Amino acid sequence: MSLKNKTALVTGSTSGIGLGIAKALASQGANIMMNGFGDVDAAIAEVSAAGTRVEYHHADLSKPSEIEDLMNSAAAKFGQVDILVNNAGIQHVSSLEDFRVEHWDAIMAINLSAAFHTTRLALPAMKASNWGRIINMGSVHALVASVNKAAYVAAKHGIVGLTKVTALETATTGITCNAICPGWVRTPLALKQVEDKAKALNINFEEATKLSLGEKEPSMQFTTTEDIGQLALFFCSPAGNNVRGVAWSMDGGWTAQ
Ligand code: NAD
Repeated sequence: MSLKNKTALVTGSTSGIGLGIAKALASQGANIMMNGFGDVDAAIAEVSAAGTRVEYHHADLSKPSEIEDLMNSAAAKFGQVDILVNNAGIQHVSSLEDFRVEHWDAIMAINLSAAFHTTRLALPAMKASNWGRIINMGSVHALVASVNKAAYVAAKHGIVGLTKVTALETATTGITCNAICPGWVRTPLALKQVEDKAKALNINFEEATKLSLGEKEPSMQFTTTEDIGQLALFFCSPAGNNVRGVAWSMDGGWTAQ
């Protein structure tokens, strides 16, 4: 498969899963528009190693005006976005009655509404070229719930709904839209939850890892960001031409139970 001359915008690609997907797409020749916070230079260097063109935009995805700027900038720099990966996401863990309103609003904006904005803005050019791939980052929490994650579970269930509608509205075109639903993936987002558990229960990190995975993930293994990158490549390949509107689990058996 070659993604040469295609441009992929991967939100939240400065860390974790987004970085893994950006590297996988670049390895197949795609130019990459990166976005996210943190150690931006190191992330750009990692993605650039594949030798394709890499640009970066600083948009805060909780702000629709900055998302518009990101999409305009991608179009100005690359012509258009062919592959859109809505990956950026945050987590906050708290019981419903203690859940702070600003945490709810931020999770809804970044984990769900941002994908609506990027999708509505990317579709016209994809339709004009009759080819496109939209990959939304779901989660096992897009399919089942866990306690203390009200906003995250609601936003991730929502992203599967958005994925299905997008897939239906593009069903007769060369554009597909699908969601990836991982269980535990070893990234800063997941590791913080394990560390918090270790602190709360006064146990070490290894014990907290076993406890976290043992609760729900039968494989007792973290999924890797490389595995997820390969699944994204499959969606972009010709074999993915008629895969539309799925929520594809990569969860070590979590939702098989
Ligand atoms: P991560 O914390 O390593 O990376 C998150 C990325 O999103 C970073 O690049 C960060 O800078 C970016 N980001 C956060 N807020 C942003 C904002 N306001 N504007 C722009 N960028 C922003 O986390 P991750 O584990 O790689 O998570 C990526 C996605 O995968 C998320 O949607 C998450 O819900 C999902 N996910 C993660 C796991 C897991 O176990 N790690 C499991 C299932 C789903």
